[in-house]
Amino acid sequence: MKAPPTAETALLLQRARFLLLDFDGPVCSIFAGTPASRVANDLLGALRTEGVSIPERIKATLDPFEVLRFAHSINFAAADRTERRLREAEVAAVPTAMRTPHAADLITAWRKTGKAVAIVSNNSEAAVVAFACLHRLTLDAVVGRTSSDPSLLKPNPHLVERAVDALGAAGPDTVLVGDSPSDIVAAKESCVNAIGYANKIGKYARLVDAGADGVVEDLGTLLDALR
Ligand SMILES: [Mg+2]
Repeated sequence: MKAPPTAETALLLQRARFLLLDFDGPVCSIFAGTPASRVANDLLGALRTEGVSIPERIKATLDPFEVLRFAHSINFAAADRTERRLREAEVAAVPTAMRTPHAADLITAWRKTGKAVAIVSNNSEAAVVAFACLHRLTLDAVVGRTSSDPSLLKPNPHLVERAVDALGAAGPDTVLVGDSPSDIVAAKESCVNAIGYANKIGKYARLVDAGADGVVEDLGTLLDALR
């Protein structure tokens, strides 16, 4: 599948009144200094210490969210404990997170035009707020994970709809920038336009296939569109 040309992506951004940014990818790489695989392993270790038998299929996972989904499949208490540990790991990872090139400038340029921007993330709200404070990012809203129920995370539209509400926005006036097919699906289900950020090889086609209205490989492209 072929994405619409960049000129159309630029127009999509210019016409929008509200901007939603996914966090891990478009704003930073949260686990740049603390590998996600280590966090996943630590979460599994904590469950094992509590007497939980870890199934073979999950023992080698590199994805902390897969551990959260597994914990939720055991019971609510295990999910709550795992979510809390994941939240603590995310907040602890903030000082070593790597900022995405042009992200801060994009947020500043967007707000300079008098328009509102929010971050909408499957990461904990606490980690997003900590990152924004550390890097002095001014945002109009932050919507992140506040529950241990993984089914409420993107691709479920729940978080995107919360962000749209928080900004007093309407779906068609809003554009989301995300680096995962789940971001694109959540946006489209919320009637929000979606621009994929293909920051790794192989992502471009997956973002288009998920329904992205446009895909960029560099946030500088979006920054240029605002200038
Ligand atoms: Mg992401």
